[in-house]
Amino acid sequence: MKKVLITGAAGFLGSHLCDRFIREGFCVIGMDNLITGDLKNIEHLFRLKEFEFYHHDVTKFVHVPGNLDYILHFASPASPIDYLKIPIKTLKVGALGTHNLLGLAKEKKSRILVASTSEVYGDPLVHPQNEDYYGNVSPVGPRGVYDEAKRFLEAITMAYHRSHGLETRIARIFNTYGPRMRLNDGRVVPAFIGQALRGENLTIFGDGLQTRSFCYVDDQVEGIYRLLMSDYVYPVNIGNPDEITIKEFAEEIIKLTDTEQKIIYKPLPKDDPLQRQPDITRAKEILGWEPKVSRKEGMKKTLEYFKSLSEEDLYKSAH
Ligand code: NAD
Ligand code: UDP
Repeated sequence: MKKVLITGAAGFLGSHLCDRFIREGFCVIGMDNLITGDLKNIEHLFRLKEFEFYHHDVTKFVHVPGNLDYILHFASPASPIDYLKIPIKTLKVGALGTHNLLGLAKEKKSRILVASTSEVYGDPLVHPQNEDYYGNVSPVGPRGVYDEAKRFLEAITMAYHRSHGLETRIARIFNTYGPRMRLNDGRVVPAFIGQALRGENLTIFGDGLQTRSFCYVDDQVEGIYRLLMSDYVYPVNIGNPDEITIKEFAEEIIKLTDTEQKIIYKPLPKDDPLQRQPDITRAKEILGWEPKVSRKEGMKKTLEYFKSLSEEDLYKSAH
């Protein structure tokens, strides 16, 4: 049986990746220090002999016994609220954590895929963003801790490929949503749904004319799986190009939840990108991949998940 190590396994994307690799017949080692994740996301896997969980901080030396075919490095705070709260840990997991996992991949001769982000493009001056765009990031702004950590992650990954011949893959992930997002992680999808379900006003930051393009988690996982299995070493955007303003998105959530919430406006956080849409030409050509799940369908499934949470979870997350 092929063996894969997934870091950030108790998080949103990591837990869905664990499910997918188990379904594909792999032995999966999930690793996480639970700083922004939740064991509930993977507790259904604990009874399987093909799954093992290591409670470990990847910024510390990473050891895994035996052979290892693949590594997926997804450990990192991912929401602006999280990484603004723990900026130094965010820099460390992108830098020291990535270094440790590349070292492990070199030792075990594993292929490694690292999770990068559309944030490497910063507040982009090119639209839509393709992989050849170098980005517009403020290294000293509040979001710099995440953006620069991920830019370093890409740089050190390419250096290991070039210097040590390591088999590396880089996914530039655009806003992805779905079941198992944390209700209070501050990202716009759980924020708006949580507010609507609690009967609170929806908070738009800025004038709401900034755009995002939301990808459903099953599509994202498929893109990542294909990229890992491909032989392409340069970064590949994985996201859904269906772009929408945050104001229109808030209106969609109000309609979807069948509530009559009002929209209120709060200041736009510093360096919040004004426009974001992936150019996925490369993913289409190299991976034969494109998203299949519409926002309507994906948001319906996501709402069902949030509705299934307990009242306690819903209100605990409000503050
Ligand atoms: P998440 O917060 O749900 O999951 C991240 C997981 O990493 C958590 O379980 C957390 O506990 C764990 N973690 C953090 N630091 C760690 C450390 N030092 N050691 C071990 N585990 C650690 O976030 P997510 O949305 O699932 O994001 C996963 C990855 O995908 C991140 O690397 C993120 O940058 C990237 N990404 C996500 C999106 C998105 O839209 N979801 C977009 C771009 C990039
Ligand atoms: N946003 C908002 N209200 C919220 C949370 C987020 O208007 O309660 C905005 C945020 O300012 C950004 C967009 O929604 O313009 C997406 O934010 P998110 O944190 O989900 O992701 P990112 O900014 O990393 O793309």
